Amino acid sequence: MEFVDLRSDTVTKPTEEMRDAARNAKVGDDVWGDDPTAQELEAYAADLLGKEEAMFVSSGTMGNIVPILSLTRPGDQVLLEAESHTYNYEVGGISALAGAIPKLIHSEYGNITSEQISNAILPENVHFPETTLLCLENTHSRHGGIALSPSEIAGPSQTAHDYGLKVHLDGARLFNAVIHHEVDVKEYTKHVDTVQICLSKGLSAPIGSIVASDEETMKIARKKRKMLGGGMRQVGIIAAPGLVALKTMRDRLKEDHDTARALSSGFKSLGFKIVEPQTNILVIYTDGIFEDVNEGVKFFEELNIGVAPFGLNKIRLTTHRHITKEVVAEVLDRVSNSGKIR
Ligand SMILES: *Cc1c(COP(=O)(O)O)cnc(C)c1O
Repeated sequence: MEFVDLRSDTVTKPTEEMRDAARNAKVGDDVWGDDPTAQELEAYAADLLGKEEAMFVSSGTMGNIVPILSLTRPGDQVLLEAESHTYNYEVGGISALAGAIPKLIHSEYGNITSEQISNAILPENVHFPETTLLCLENTHSRHGGIALSPSEIAGPSQTAHDYGLKVHLDGARLFNAVIHHEVDVKEYTKHVDTVQICLSKGLSAPIGSIVASDEETMKIARKKRKMLGGGMRQVGIIAAPGLVALKTMRDRLKEDHDTARALSSGFKSLGFKIVEPQTNILVIYTDGIFEDVNEGVKFFEELNIGVAPFGLNKIRLTTHRHITKEVVAEVLDRVSNSGKIR
């Protein structure tokens, strides 16, 4: 019984084309600014995202902390959605590294409102921290891969800008939102000052993310990346598969949304309560089926299916390039034949 890995879309292996691209990449020393492949990737990404400049970084986590470091000063207040990846899964870097104080805003599915933003910004007073940055996330991971629409990014960004804040978009899976809403990615990025996208999730590159912004911000961002130890030398070796990912793997994300939907209707008919998937993330509830989340994860482990615990009573299943329709059918077979369900 072969292992089916639904833990995350980060488990995707590079394609043959990516391996060839890595093998054949022209390289230089990127800290000296002369790695042609990194430059090609960065120029392509900047153009695609509609920003003046882009920069390759080692991970999505670095892709978030670099803009935060670039746009805030220690002691500043940063507005974040309560379930955001940056607050929950980035080891507290926003405070430990940037010295910022997070102010959490609760929302139904990542859709912070303009009113919440104006209420969270403190008036000028000798006691108060400066509020300088709003962080948004799309698709929203902990809310189950919900894809915010361009207007759900535009509204809060406009309000933040009206108050003089900058806006960073954690777009680890931004192209999943692009596919879901059938819009150009610039319909999102034009509203924000900085954006981060992951190459290593559904796009299947082995390593890396992109940070994009205006020239002035990126000049600061390059120094912050260097400070974090993210200045890399013959980086073309890993930038080359990233370029293949960005050029050729965006459209196929639709397949991952289709398999997530197939998986969700299967789990529904097996009696599971689910969060209806919009993109490639399916959240199922353990209530009424398993004692708790640990028992749920163990149940899948015994069927040789990897899943991710997701809070106290939820399990996350993420579809990706290796999860074909046939694999979905196999997963549902294993679950329904387990003897445990119904
Ligand atoms: C995965 C993810 C990140 C971090 O990316 P890493 O490459 O794992 O550091 C950031 N934000 C969101 C929303 C993510 O899903």
